[in-house]
Amino acid sequence: MRPIEVLYRLQQTELRLEAIRRDLATLDSGERLEAEMNRLSEELARDRQTLRQLRQELLDQELELNDMEAKMRKMEDLLASGSVRSGREVEHMQKELEEVRRRKDLIETRMLELMIRIEETEKKLKEREELLEQNRERLAEIRKQAAVLKEALTKEQESLLQERERLRSMLPEDLLNRYERLKARLGGVAVAKIEGNLCGACRVAITAEIVRALRDPEGLPTCENCGRFLFGEV
Ligand SMILES: [Zn+2]
Repeated sequence: MRPIEVLYRLQQTELRLEAIRRDLATLDSGERLEAEMNRLSEELARDRQTLRQLRQELLDQELELNDMEAKMRKMEDLLASGSVRSGREVEHMQKELEEVRRRKDLIETRMLELMIRIEETEKKLKEREELLEQNRERLAEIRKQAAVLKEALTKEQESLLQERERLRSMLPEDLLNRYERLKARLGGVAVAKIEGNLCGACRVAITAEIVRALRDPEGLPTCENCGRFLFGEV
């Protein structure tokens, strides 16, 4: 292989290695989804707590309603029995009975509200549980795919690192140093491909001298404008 071709291949290998390194660093293994699921779990815990409180309150209201009903029955029976004879006492009891009825109505209204809220909370809870379950499945899929991709990239990386060493061993030290310096100075591209009769990197036309150097198996033509090595068929 001609040195210029070795240089070009080395560069392609290193560019691909760089891309793999970036891909591996930014590989999504489901971290974002996991954070979302943690938030969802916290919301679920709050929903469950709310539901427990609502159910407890409903139970308390039910007990109080029973109390009120028992009290009403007792007073109604007493009034019906005719044992309360004083007109003032009857009037007093009727007022009290009115008050108990009013409280009973309030309790029933509150119970109805509670039942509606319980139903809404149960519905929300169920939706969140379903969403969490879907996310669990999605997370497992993302992790599986990430593991497959990671394995493939790592394998490619290993073989490219070997290829890189093989190519580097084919080049003299001073040429490698020149290549590294150019690469560092010119945004990672030390070897440009000739496109038509232009330098593929800076688009300046190549000279006859470069064409001659390209035909020389040991030739190392460089672009007169950007200074990069030039590689191509002529
Ligand atoms: Zn150039």
